[in-house]
Amino acid sequence: MKLNRRNFVKNSAILTAGFGVYGIARNATASIMPKKGKRVVVLGGGFGGCTAAKYIKLNDPSIEVILVEKNDKFISCPISNLVIVGLRGMDFITFKYDQLQKNYGIKFLQAEAVQIIPEKNQLVTSKGSIEYDRLVVSPGIGFIENKEIGYQLSLANKIPHAWKAGKQTEILKAQLQNLPKGGSVILRVPKSPYRCPPGPYERASLIANYIKRNNLGGKIFVLDPNDDVTSKGKLFKAAWGDLYKDILEYYNQVDVTNINAEKMNIETNKGNFTGNVINFIPDQKASDTAFKLGLIPEGKLWAFVDSYTFESEAIKNVYVIGDSTNTGSVGTVPKSGYIANSMGKVVAESVVASLKGEKPPKPFMANACYSMVSDSEAIWVTAVYEFDDNVKRTITIKNASGTPHERSKIDAFHQISWAENIWNDVLM
Ligand SMILES: Cc1cc2nc3c(=O)[nH]c(=O)nc-3n(C[C@H](O)[C@H](O)[C@H](O)COP(=O)(O)OP(=O)(O)OC[C@H]3O[C@@H](n4cnc5c(N)ncnc54)[C@H](O)[C@@H]3O)c2cc1C
Repeated sequence: MKLNRRNFVKNSAILTAGFGVYGIARNATASIMPKKGKRVVVLGGGFGGCTAAKYIKLNDPSIEVILVEKNDKFISCPISNLVIVGLRGMDFITFKYDQLQKNYGIKFLQAEAVQIIPEKNQLVTSKGSIEYDRLVVSPGIGFIENKEIGYQLSLANKIPHAWKAGKQTEILKAQLQNLPKGGSVILRVPKSPYRCPPGPYERASLIANYIKRNNLGGKIFVLDPNDDVTSKGKLFKAAWGDLYKDILEYYNQVDVTNINAEKMNIETNKGNFTGNVINFIPDQKASDTAFKLGLIPEGKLWAFVDSYTFESEAIKNVYVIGDSTNTGSVGTVPKSGYIANSMGKVVAESVVASLKGEKPPKPFMANACYSMVSDSEAIWVTAVYEFDDNVKRTITIKNASGTPHERSKIDAFHQISWAENIWNDVLM
């Protein structure tokens, strides 16, 4: 049955705020949306979660799929670096969830997930608790505060990270627009592993390009705690040498020892840096949600999963995908939107097979990542991954992976096509 607005209203007890809210439980543990047949609940309406929800429905339309997401809109991190420097608008990266509901009959519950009750197969949300047969969790990343150096997330209004797209993107964009002539920007790269390995270097390139395009005569200092540029290093460094020699200064193995947001100063083992804008991207861990739900082992930062099925090692019938997963337990894949999209497809096969009592097919994943190095040229990296029966992990297929020899204009167009295609695959 194709869902139209009328029978959608009839068939689902709860609707999103945008469509009107019905049947909200008085307290979070009271049951809502009574379960009739097989049901998969997907938590997190980002790259991983939306893909999983859609592909579960494509694999088996008889399964009821409920997508739980706290926000009413999807705002894409990919392309947000272009928004920060004014090459695209926020509207270009902002989407509603309505197509997933309309095209596949996925029910959308706008609510915050707060607890899993494993013995009851229940997810407790801010709007009541929902029963599941399988729960897929793709909650993204969280940030590590470091009080010893004076970094707290409450500083993000003044020294934004802009590492989750939305309000933070707009804050950093506004700060750049106010950058005075001769002003400087400090960009702190997070320590690996973090979401989108080439992302900080793309941003640094685009900010340098912004300074150049607007004849600001300023500088960007890139402070990297890692040994070297963590992705596409040769290509980024070639672009910086050719295009931004007097603008971009890159420092590796940088330990920040103190941040003074009042004075806009950062002390490090490589000297003191003062900026008009500080884009401090903190070190990362699994989303706070993954911790709250009991999916992270004591003393660890990421969710451990079975690398074949993505079932959580902590809670049965719960599957974790996307940036929150522990790279070591999955294999060599980076934390990217494309990989979260691949994981969404793998987990869809996995939960549908498990509901039928079957073994899922062997996992394959793919990644392609474009980075702008100026307002008109881009570089990329691509890789394909497969599950290896010997090491019981996902490994890179060497001959199906690579990078180009040089930056090019055509790849700047390809980046936009890539983004539009993946948004379609994730959301439409
Ligand atoms: C600047 C930048 C550029 C990037 N560029 C690229 C790129 O070019 N290519 C690429 O492949 N990747 C890119 N990425 C990485 C990509 O954005 C992430 O890897 C991807 O978003 C991960 O998907 P996810 O599903 O794990 O998390 P997300 O997409 O972050 O989704 C998590 C969702 O869970 C929701 N959520 C969390 N907790 C709760 C809760 N308790 N209740 C309800 N909802 C909850 C959140 O609101 C969010 O919508 C970039 C990232 C950045 C920061």
